[in-house]
Amino acid sequence: MIRVDFNPADFERLVGEKGYEVIWKKHCYCPCRRDTTGQSKIICPLCGGRGDIYFDPLPIRGIVIGAVQAVEQLKVPGRWERGTATITVSGKHQISFYDQIILQESTTAFSELVRHHDDRPDKLNYHGLEVEFARTESTVFDPSLDMGLDGDGNIVWQVGRPKPDDGETFVVRYQFHPIFIIMDLNHAYRDTIIRRKYGVETPVNLPRSAAMQLDFLIGERR
Ligand SMILES: [Zn+2]
Repeated sequence: MIRVDFNPADFERLVGEKGYEVIWKKHCYCPCRRDTTGQSKIICPLCGGRGDIYFDPLPIRGIVIGAVQAVEQLKVPGRWERGTATITVSGKHQISFYDQIILQESTTAFSELVRHHDDRPDKLNYHGLEVEFARTESTVFDPSLDMGLDGDGNIVWQVGRPKPDDGETFVVRYQFHPIFIIMDLNHAYRDTIIRRKYGVETPVNLPRSAAMQLDFLIGERR
């Protein structure tokens, strides 16, 4: 609940001192969704088939609680349903449902199947920071010699080095910044209060608090 002695200036100071650097991206549904069923196209250049698009990336600071634990829990069998954390940001940032929060100060590993194409970079689900392992059924690649990552975090293969055949599937494990999706907002914090000082009323945006969940856990349930 809102405390009557709540001071937004104190919160701004706390975020500045103890806050965590994140990238906030706003969510919108992809126009490829069918208006009757909400189903997205399997192949869509805008959303990659997930039916959601994100825009206006903005670096902000927030108090993030439980994020490291959320990522760590993935390594404990049977605790896959967790992966949740909370974030509280300045009221000037109108974070909302299904927005993305990318943690810039931590990394974690993700692995996936990728189909290689000779004519373009091999697109990863998340922006790769460092490849740890890659192989096909027959060939193990050297991540430091055979491939690199382009500016979008996708794989480019070095000329004259081993690579998958055109159309062949390989597996890759790489590091990326964990991405969370906002699943719920703490309504008590969403309201704007009116401050009265010397008879003048000034609207004050209170900090916004949200519950969020790791993106790839949500994706697996779709
Ligand atoms: Zn789409």
